[in-house]
Order: sequence, then structure tokens, then C-alpha cells
Amino acid sequence: MNMLIGFEIHQQLATERKMYCDCPTNYQDVPPNTNVCPICTGMPGSKPLSPNEKAVNAAIELALMLSCKVVIGKPTYIQRKHYDYPDLPSGYQRTSLPIAVEGELHGVRIREVHLEEDPGQYDPTVGTVDFNRSGVPLVEIVTEPDMHSPEDARRFLRQLIRVLEFTGKVRPEAGGAMRADVNISLEGGARVEVKNINSVKGAYKALKFEITRQKAKLGRGEAVTRETRAYLESQMITVPMRLKELEEDYRYIPDPDIFPLVIGEAKVQKIREHMVEPPHLREQRLVEQYGIQQAVANVIVSEKAFADLFEEMTKEVNPKLAATWFRTRLKKILNYMKLSAADIKFTPKQLAGLLQMIEHHKITPEQGELVLRELVRKPGNPEELVQRLGLGRVEKKELQLAVKEAVRKNQKAVKDYLAGREEALNFIAGKVMELTKGKADPREVLKLLRAELSKNS
Ligand SMILES: [Zn+2]
Repeated sequence: MNMLIGFEIHQQLATERKMYCDCPTNYQDVPPNTNVCPICTGMPGSKPLSPNEKAVNAAIELALMLSCKVVIGKPTYIQRKHYDYPDLPSGYQRTSLPIAVEGELHGVRIREVHLEEDPGQYDPTVGTVDFNRSGVPLVEIVTEPDMHSPEDARRFLRQLIRVLEFTGKVRPEAGGAMRADVNISLEGGARVEVKNINSVKGAYKALKFEITRQKAKLGRGEAVTRETRAYLESQMITVPMRLKELEEDYRYIPDPDIFPLVIGEAKVQKIREHMVEPPHLREQRLVEQYGIQQAVANVIVSEKAFADLFEEMTKEVNPKLAATWFRTRLKKILNYMKLSAADIKFTPKQLAGLLQMIEHHKITPEQGELVLRELVRKPGNPEELVQRLGLGRVEKKELQLAVKEAVRKNQKAVKDYLAGREEALNFIAGKVMELTKGKADPREVLKLLRAELSKNS
């Protein structure tokens, strides 16, 4: 069935000050109603400061990362969007006209990017409001309805979150900073909007639910009418929103207390020069520059710190070797220890030292993994870790002696092997590993054993 899915995504910007006043934005770390002033509590007569420049710049950077055209040289009005709710003492939320338009990410067109401010936090169960969050800057990203399945939508959201995280200009996910409204229309039905989504999983589940619900309705010959619904996270369903919340007559007017924003070419140019490389473009560049596979590049670019560390390594070791280690062993260890690349404590030099030992066959890949695990747990000089863990290759001469000794002491197994029982070779190899205290490379042991035993046959 054909369907069209689009998003409106709100994300808090990681500025230290609020959008129109100087109150701090760390609303989760302080007692209720302490990061407040007459401006962000909407006191009569209070006048907003001009828009927080850091928030404006962050929103421009995000828009550029999404390949948007920034609205340059024209007045961009800050509008008042009116609605009545206890979390909004002034009775209106400030939201800018688009500061950028016509972007694209992962085949999905970005229609507009706006600057907004967060309202306070109202707790309807006890009737209290905390205004610490009131006035925290938000960026709003509106897409065209270019996604065609819940899977599509999920993929896009993940890509978008990665872009947002790469900028380092949004608040980390832990605080549940992302909020999304999703709209969906099935062929033959009207557009339905679902609000209250705050995770990728939530968006996916809400869409799945809506498709089932709307299909059933259409199947019964009923009409799917235009409406706004709320997603209930705990039950993974959507329900109609109360009619009161639907009265979307926001009575937009330009805020007479705030000069419109006028974004200059020079500012945009400066932001463009200093912004980080967007992850989707970086992924492509890694594929081309280092000749690694797309899937590998995708893992490496999953986190900016991870990609940065990888590119550091390419200066010291073969990029393909580094890529393999990043994609498999390092990622596996980090996942197992529930660490992100940003938590890594070892230095790039230490990791490079380890990868060089592997590259130059000073230790086996298996030993390398042990050292890597230790490096993540308790960073140190990789050579010293090899010593401490009692690893390191045996000298060729020593290994040959061990092979000879194992053969001499295990004549029955030798006979079995020569009689065609291949598994006997593994037994003798095990004895060699014992004699070398596990330091030998199993592949090399087998090679030498075969050579040695061929003399006996
Ligand atoms: Zn304030």
C-alpha cells in the first residue's frame, strides 16, 4: 500500500543560556523554578533580549549539515504562536519563520528549519509548573512526506540523529531531548498527525500502529479523516487528542519586541568553514579514500569520536587493517563494556602502537584482542601490556625446538597423523602451544608441524 510519511522534529540546542534571557539552561540539574527570570516566566512588562547568537549559529550549522539553503539577507521574523497551557505563562511560544529551506538527507527532502523555544514543564497530576526549561532554545526540522514505510522513517531518524550528534550542538539524547511529530497518509485516506513521540522506537511503533488502524478502517469502508492523535508510549498505541488541544488557531503575529533576524552571507560562510563534516558525506569519503567497504565505513562513522580515532590510525598503520579492527574487535569490546567512543581513555598513540605490533606480526591477532581489551579497561603502553599479559611471539628458533619436542614426545599421535588421522595434528599442535605458553601463532604452528612431519613420512 502506498503511504506518505513526514516528520517535524524538535531538538534542544546545547547552549549555556536560554533563547531570550540570560538564565542557564541546565534545567535538569537544579531545583524547580531556580533558573528563571521575568523574561522566561512571561512577567507583564518584561522584554526579551535579542535571540541568543549561539543558538542561531547552531541552527544555521545544523541546516547546512542537512544541505539546506540558509535564508540570507532577508528579515526572518520571530513569531508569537498563541496557545493556552499552564507551561506557557506568556500565552505564546516564540518560533521563527524558516531560517533555512530545501535541504536533503538520505533521500528525504528537508522543507524548513526553524528556531523555537521550549515551554516549561507542567505536571497535571499535582498541578505544579517548573519554568526552568522555559525558553531553552530548540531547533525544529520539518521534512517533506518522503518516507514510505515505518522502516524508511526509522532509517531516516537514525541518520538525522547522527547528523545532530556530529555537530555537538544539540543536547545529548539522555535527557530525552528529541521530540517528534509524525504525519502519515495512506492511499485513500486523509493525513493523520501523531504527536508525543520521543524516540526512534516510538516513531516506528506509532507508525506501525497507525498503519494497522487506518488500513482496518479503510477496509471497513470507513473514511480516515484528518486528525491529530497522541502516541502513548507505555501502550504503544495512538489515541485521539482531546478536542481542546486540537484547536490549532495559533494567531501567529510577529513578536513586536524582537527585531527580525537578518542572517548575513559572511556569517554563513564562517560557519560553513568551521563546521564538522556531515557523517553521511564522511562515510562516502572513507570508502573512496581508504578503499574500505560501505558497511565498514558505516560502523566507523557511527560516532564522531570513533571516526576521528580511525582517521588518526590511518596515519600510522594500514587503513584496511585499522578498519577491520575498528569494525569488529574494537566495536565489539566497546559494546560489551557499554562504552561509547567518547568514553575511550587510551590515547591514539597507544592504539597505534598495538595495531603496529599486529601489522608487523609481533603478536597474533588473538593476542592483539587480549591487549586491546586491556587497553580499553586500563590504558597503558601496548608493549608493556604485552609483557604484563605474558604475550608476545616466540622466536622462530624456540618455536622450531618446541615443534621437535612435541613430535618426539607424542609418537602415538604422530603415527595416527601419518596414518591419515588429521585430528591428531591438532593434538600435537596443542602440545606445542603448551610448550610455548600460548605465545605461538596457531597458524604458524600447524605449518611448521606439517613440514616437520613430512620429513617423517
Ligand atoms: Zn530567564
